[in-house]
Amino acid sequence: MEKKHAWTIGTILTWTRQYFQDKGVDNPRLDAEVLLSHILGKDRLYLYVHFDQPLEQRELEAFRAVVKRRVLREPVAYITGCREFMGLAFQVSPSVLIPRPDTEILVETVLAKLAGQNTAAPALLDIGTGSGAIIISMLHTLAAATGVAVDISAEALLVARENACRHGVADRLTLYKGDIFSAVAGRQFDVIVSNPPYIPQKDITGLAAEVRKEPHLALDGGADGLDFYRRISQVASAYLTAGGLLAFEVGQGQADAVAELGRTQQFLVEAIVKDYAGIDRVVLLRDTRQ
Ligand code: GLN
Repeated sequence: MEKKHAWTIGTILTWTRQYFQDKGVDNPRLDAEVLLSHILGKDRLYLYVHFDQPLEQRELEAFRAVVKRRVLREPVAYITGCREFMGLAFQVSPSVLIPRPDTEILVETVLAKLAGQNTAAPALLDIGTGSGAIIISMLHTLAAATGVAVDISAEALLVARENACRHGVADRLTLYKGDIFSAVAGRQFDVIVSNPPYIPQKDITGLAAEVRKEPHLALDGGADGLDFYRRISQVASAYLTAGGLLAFEVGQGQADAVAELGRTQQFLVEAIVKDYAGIDRVVLLRDTRQ
């Protein structure tokens, strides 16, 4: 009789780590743990405390299915439907860019600036909101602030709406479908933030397979990647209160060009902030009208 081979949490993690490694998946052990926690509906700590727990057949089958998807380079966040940003759990789907840790620097930089000035109830605008991670985490921190989020993708706005509800800011956030400022004609904001598509077109095919599973709309920044910075900075001052802030996330090597676009439009370059890898990642522009 064949020996019954029961997989446990510990043995399946070891096996999957090796399998992912052989298939060239980045972070093989971490991905194995995140996916197994997702299937079991437990956190990662649970796995460590229950290494000897045998897996039930249906858990094993469900886990095998997600392992297959990961090997086909589906991002972990699309498989679990969830990604943490600024300490909050955001719903994500293939309709939205997966929030990146580096984008937290954009949020933190703007929050620090706002803390240093006293705008009692700042009005915020997020252009190309995607999952809503940027503006929702800001509204979550700034209890008196109100926000408008725009995106050209109706599917993305559904995800942002769900996240606004989940984090209790839906009553202070209005979502509009539209291209840059088209949905907010005649309005003014104290802060405009954007992490626009900034990958130069010719670089898109060379991106990691996982990134190519993200919406093309959220990545493609035109020939030199700077299209959205140009279009936004040209008209932004009309949508800002006097002395307002325009804060951008930028791609590698783009900070100086974006700062220059700002100067051309009479913005003061208030700060260029580096990400965790030491790359200039955030450009903070200040309106200088009196
Ligand atoms: N940060 C994304 C990347 O690393 C690009 C996102 C964007 O274009 N805004 O590929």
